[in-house]
Amino acid sequence: MATETETFAFQAEINQLLSLIINTFYSNKEIFLRELISNSSDALDKIRFESLTDKSKLDAQPELFIHIIPDKATSTLTIVDSGIGMTKSDLVNNLGTIARSGTKEFMEALAAGADVSMIGQFGVGFYSAYLVAERVVVTTKHNDDEQYVWESQAGGSFTVTRDTSGEQLGRGTKMVLYLKDDQMEYLEERRIKDLVKKHSEFISYPISLWTEKTTEKEISDDEDEEEKKDTEEGKVEDVDEEKEEKEKKKKKIKEVSHEWNLVNKQKPIWMRKPEEINKEEYAAFYKSLTNDWEEHLAVKHFSVEGQLEFKAVLFVPKRAPFDLFDNKKKANNIKLYVRRVFIMDNCEELIPEYLSFVKGIVDSEDLPLNISRETLQQNKILKVIRKNLVKKCIELFFEIAENKEDYNKFYEAFSKNLKLGIHEDSQNRTKKACLCHQGGSEAR
Ligand code: ADP
Repeated sequence: MATETETFAFQAEINQLLSLIINTFYSNKEIFLRELISNSSDALDKIRFESLTDKSKLDAQPELFIHIIPDKATSTLTIVDSGIGMTKSDLVNNLGTIARSGTKEFMEALAAGADVSMIGQFGVGFYSAYLVAERVVVTTKHNDDEQYVWESQAGGSFTVTRDTSGEQLGRGTKMVLYLKDDQMEYLEERRIKDLVKKHSEFISYPISLWTEKTTEKEISDDEDEEEKKDTEEGKVEDVDEEKEEKEKKKKKIKEVSHEWNLVNKQKPIWMRKPEEINKEEYAAFYKSLTNDWEEHLAVKHFSVEGQLEFKAVLFVPKRAPFDLFDNKKKANNIKLYVRRVFIMDNCEELIPEYLSFVKGIVDSEDLPLNISRETLQQNKILKVIRKNLVKKCIELFFEIAENKEDYNKFYEAFSKNLKLGIHEDSQNRTKKACLCHQGGSEAR
């Protein structure tokens, strides 16, 4: 049965962004992999969250994984995830026809000298694939729809086709990048491994790389005859013909096989002891959590025990994000986990709005896994967590205030928030007034 291919035009700003990505010289192209892995991780978070209240959502593919497959024969790098996938309308909307506010803002930032590695912060990370690829093919399967293929070589348009004949994913998304001629380094195992370590080490799903393994095996001549009969042409390769002459009975052959190689550690940093974690590790975690290209300004890693138990890592960034006071953005930047399972990253009850610039994670031992947004609002445990987080944030701000230079940076970026906080949060008013005052006098 012939399937119909529909062609869509990229929305104007997205088109502009694509041209910019393709035609401007950026040396820092490697960040594309971090962006695509981060999208996969988000998609896995979404399906895992849905499965907490409905296990059958995982039926089509029970495993949660990210696979990376370099293929030198076709010059392609493929990233597969078993995440939530995209319906046909998701594909059309998310990958080309609806521009986010970040599209324009990212281009403006680039024009003002920003680095391309900031792309993730603006919510357009997918398009970074075109830093290294001339053509991208996205195959995706969502539980609520059939499998579809999106394809584009940029140049103004993309196509979407229902996929009846291709390999069926079950659930998830496969991105095939047809690499540009000068980007073949991204097919090298070593390079990919190093990149995952550098940018994606704290992704909480297993990331496996399809690797080539060559083994040498010694066999006797009789065996060799057998082997030759059994093995397909090309798989067995002579490596030592001279030796074969001298030593008629023994022979070495090279066997090439493939296997999956796990490349990330996955142990969440917040489960480790703070005194065993160095600044670089916190910085790497911060960057992977936030897509920030700079290190954090300050960090607080703590656990609360007793009647209620949770662990948290809170970061203060060095700068305010471009959308600090944008109403449409997420309520805050704290990811909520329950016993290591990611629950949501926009839980309004977790931290007051004026602290929305604080980034980090909270992992609770006590909340139920299948918590819904409605029950969160009444939840007493959450109220206690919130109180603790505010207290720890203020402690953290006072720690920043111990270093004049840091505090100036902090004050410049976030004094608006602190002032807002004085109005919103009466309990901690005096302390914050004190922080504002310190900054104010310094700034003068
Ligand atoms: P962001 O991820 O910051 O929202 P992107 O441009 O990277 O922006 O991606 C746009 C959207 O496309 C995502 O929000 C998501 O809905 C969808 N998407 C991208 N990659 C995947 C994926 N691997 N699985 C499912 N959906 C995806």
